[in-house]
Amino acid sequence: MKKRLIPVPQPRSRFYRVICKTCGAENVVFSHSTYPARCKVCGTVLVKPTGGRAIVLKDKAEIVAELG
Ligand SMILES: [Zn+2]
Repeated sequence: MKKRLIPVPQPRSRFYRVICKTCGAENVVFSHSTYPARCKVCGTVLVKPTGGRAIVLKDKAEIVAELG
């Protein structure tokens, strides 16, 4: 019996480039952020941490790009 290839585990975490909807500034946030990431300009909380993947607050921030 042939063994199926076991893929090399890749991290599912990503960095997102988000636009703050309050002031329009660009911020880079981590997808698995464990702390509430704030906008560097106006301080609005953009990402809400959970046990795993953080939630980007859709009414506060908009994801414009995924990095790496
Ligand atoms: Zn802002």
